[in-house]
Amino acid sequence: MKNPTNPFAIAQQQFKNVAQLLDINPTIQEFLLWPQKEYHFRIPVQMDNGEIQMFEGFRVQHNNVRGPNKGGLRFHPSETIDSIRALAMWMTWKCAVVNIPLGGGKGGVIVDPAKLSPQEKERLVRGWVRKMWKNIGPRQDVPAPDVGTNPQMMGWMMDEYSKIIGKYTPGVITGKPVGGGGSLGRKEATGYGVIYNIREAMKHLKIESQKTKAAIQGFGNVAQYAAIGFKEILGGEVVCVSYWDAQDSKAYTVSKGKDFDARFLQSITNQYGSINKKLAIENGYTIEDGNAWIAQDVDIIIPAAMEGQINAGNVHNISNKVKIIAEGANGPTTLEADAAIQQKNIFLIPDFLCNSGGVTVSYFESVQNDMNFYWTKQEVLEKEDNILCSAFGSVLEMATTQDVPMRDAAYMVAIERVIKAMHLRGWI
Ligand code: NAD
Repeated sequence: MKNPTNPFAIAQQQFKNVAQLLDINPTIQEFLLWPQKEYHFRIPVQMDNGEIQMFEGFRVQHNNVRGPNKGGLRFHPSETIDSIRALAMWMTWKCAVVNIPLGGGKGGVIVDPAKLSPQEKERLVRGWVRKMWKNIGPRQDVPAPDVGTNPQMMGWMMDEYSKIIGKYTPGVITGKPVGGGGSLGRKEATGYGVIYNIREAMKHLKIESQKTKAAIQGFGNVAQYAAIGFKEILGGEVVCVSYWDAQDSKAYTVSKGKDFDARFLQSITNQYGSINKKLAIENGYTIEDGNAWIAQDVDIIIPAAMEGQINAGNVHNISNKVKIIAEGANGPTTLEADAAIQQKNIFLIPDFLCNSGGVTVSYFESVQNDMNFYWTKQEVLEKEDNILCSAFGSVLEMATTQDVPMRDAAYMVAIERVIKAMHLRGWI
């Protein structure tokens, strides 16, 4: 592989490895190795000082054989077309592994949203919709939030789309604010989904959750609810989280022994997942280097920040005590690190299974939008739990019967479903 840290090269290699095991014919492999469509465009935005600034935007539609493309919008300064391609491809597998009738897509803008005012952000996301409106829609492609985007931005985008097409269309985008077409439970969905997966893994490995400890990388949407759920749903103890400090341009690990309180930390964290270091220290938290999270003597580690975070350079720092790695983030483990983790015999819950709670509840959001009838939070979370349990069960069964790691098993389940739909629709 030319570049072992390029997420798209990783996503393609993971697919090829499993395609070989499944003996998939080369034409079908070629079909699935690349997105069906890609949109690259430039968005002019009037900044608060009156000047026009150009931003580079993308939307990648990997595969829609099982239903409309689905996937988040990532606003990040180091976004690339290849990271978006990888994320779009993983969305195809994610929707298939949880068996929801959606395909894979992803989009983004190269921008540091923390440097924009709320008005500039609104103009940027409305501009994104003006470039893409013909190619998105409830039956075409349904974006959602991801790193650097939030429910308010989704609300503005839904409004812009509805104005352009002249019809209130809440189902064009998910992750909208509750009260503005959003679903209860969406903000907790991905982090809690990680926890439901860990619970199932612990049942399988016969581990008592109340006796376990976890270390988490990240403290954004996914990590916050994974940390809260680890204590409140599983009764375990979180020993630390880490985060990226934009002011200092470096990552830190934040811990407080038994007194670690994720809900308190959430109250001193901004919308970009950056913890107020001063307030954390004043409240008895210890601040260490950003790499400290991975070396903790814990039972579970949860990478829930960005891709490529467990790699050849740090995989050997993982404690021998670790029994489960739950990939909250998309693509957090490089191929070399993956091989080392298999050698260490750690049970890894792969990203597109582990963090699939988000897209599952996004799907529920569009179902509720279509019905114009909304469920309670408990109903949403119970339905999510049922879907994730069943997905975990299918993957575990595949892993056991085929004697392959969970990642390969998740690919096998997903790829078989996608290829079956391609056959049924007469595409191949
Ligand atoms: P977010 O922007 O809310 O949070 C990201 C967090 O990662 C922040 O706390 C940030 O400080 C931290 N971070 C960034 N770089 C870091 C580093 N080098 N070291 C330590 N911390 C670092 O994003 P999110 O929505 O929580 O998404 C996190 C991951 O989960 C991404 O890979 C995303 O694609 C994936 N994901 C998110 C959802 C969702 O519903 N939000 C669903 C599925 C997958």
